[in-house]
Amino acid sequence: MGAALESDAVSARQEWATQAVARQRAFFQSGATRSYGFRVQALKKLHKAILDHQQDLVDALYTDIGRPEFEAYIEISTLVDELKHTIKHLKAWMKPEKVATSLWAQPGRSRIESVPLGVNFIIGPYNYPFLLAVQPLVGAIAAGNTAIVKPSSLNPTVADVMETILHKCFHEDHVHVFKGSSDVTNALLEEKFDHVFFTGSPRVGRIIMAAAAKHLTPVTLELGGKSPTIVHKDANLTVAARRILAGKMLNAGQTCIAPDHIYVHASIKEAFEKEMADTLKAFYGNDVKSNRDFGRLINDKHFKRVAGLIDKAKVLAGGETDAAQRYIAPTLLKDVRMDDAIMQEEIFGPLLPMLTYRSLPELFEMTRQLPDHPLALYLFTESEAVEREVLDNVQFGGGCINNTVMHVANPHLPFGGVGESGMGAYHGKNSFDVFSHKRSILKATTRLDIKLRYPPYNDRVKIMKRTIK
Ligand code: NAD
Repeated sequence: MGAALESDAVSARQEWATQAVARQRAFFQSGATRSYGFRVQALKKLHKAILDHQQDLVDALYTDIGRPEFEAYIEISTLVDELKHTIKHLKAWMKPEKVATSLWAQPGRSRIESVPLGVNFIIGPYNYPFLLAVQPLVGAIAAGNTAIVKPSSLNPTVADVMETILHKCFHEDHVHVFKGSSDVTNALLEEKFDHVFFTGSPRVGRIIMAAAAKHLTPVTLELGGKSPTIVHKDANLTVAARRILAGKMLNAGQTCIAPDHIYVHASIKEAFEKEMADTLKAFYGNDVKSNRDFGRLINDKHFKRVAGLIDKAKVLAGGETDAAQRYIAPTLLKDVRMDDAIMQEEIFGPLLPMLTYRSLPELFEMTRQLPDHPLALYLFTESEAVEREVLDNVQFGGGCINNTVMHVANPHLPFGGVGESGMGAYHGKNSFDVFSHKRSILKATTRLDIKLRYPPYNDRVKIMKRTIK
């Protein structure tokens, strides 16, 4: 009986997924989403609804993940900036791009048109649950698509607010929020989409890509990794400590581009460790647990995994945990080695292991032992030669020199990974592009008809030979 009910529920879910995708496809094919006016109005509506519901979002982020109010506003303002930037530039982005026409295609003119892909599936992660589901949606709408959005099930309160906002702004045939667990994702992935945009772990990224491959659906994968920070011997240690800790401790370390670990030049090790410990105290005081500026881990599973990575013998500062609150203190670990457990996986919590290097070749050898190309890299140095050498020797998605995390906030920079940290990039114009097909059009005239390429070819091969010289 239980099995029969379960089977009925599975069929009902699949039927719903089939219907939802079919309705969005019909709406897309009606051409309703294509005009500039429709797209810009949709974006403006979304902008207004987010402003109207900002307090609901702040409250929901606190309920689900203990997010400090300031950090909730980082999530909201990043999205609002993206919307404003998109609204401002959309008309220019939509214009076809004129390009040159080669000799053999004459007489004619060539252009590249950005056309919408169609029906998109956007799957969000738990760590910035509103931003990372809705920011891709901004690109999807701007490019004239429809989208089904699946927020992470680990933030049920945020998912409710997201549903309220998006369903207030859009007809479900245009944008539909589908809440639930991975069963929901899997039911939707049985359907044929025109594009799947996934943000989450490399492990689930593989599942998504395999499912999309059945329909030959293209995927954009925004994944994670172990993002290194390098503090060279000539770095400004005070500024480095502040910027590293600000990037790391945001959202209690649950940020895909957070500095995962630090490589410190051996000659400044002690001075830097002191600077880091002092800065940590200056940021959060002696009683971090009661400080509302510091967040919590999302659930017990993540709490246990991250707490289990603390090697008590290596704690320089912090190290305390409280399972009942899912609290892990901001923790600095010193004298860490590449073969320690903490160096084998993305930490995704407030632990910051520090390793030392003596030379750049030794540093590069260490970065090559990381599981794969990281999503980000941060380098603190005053030397342009060191900067060039590091950039030429380590592969990573994107990053900063003398800062952390902030490259994500610049809509002029594409945001995405390489290798295991992802494929494809978005933000600003790149979001519009990732949800568009670049269609090539050669427009010929019939007034002039050069017979060069028509049979019989006779001795025209001589002309061919001359042109390739
Ligand atoms: P996750 O991979 O566990 O989950 C992401 C989404 O996939 C969620 O919506 C979840 O419900 C769904 N999901 C989970 N298991 C599934 C399954 N078996 N089948 C189908 N769907 C499934 O990731 P997370 O824990 O929510 O987020 C943390 C990870 O995401 C980290 O690795 C982090 O680095 C990465 N991340 C990357 C970016 C980026 O922009 N590159 C941003 C945020 C997070």
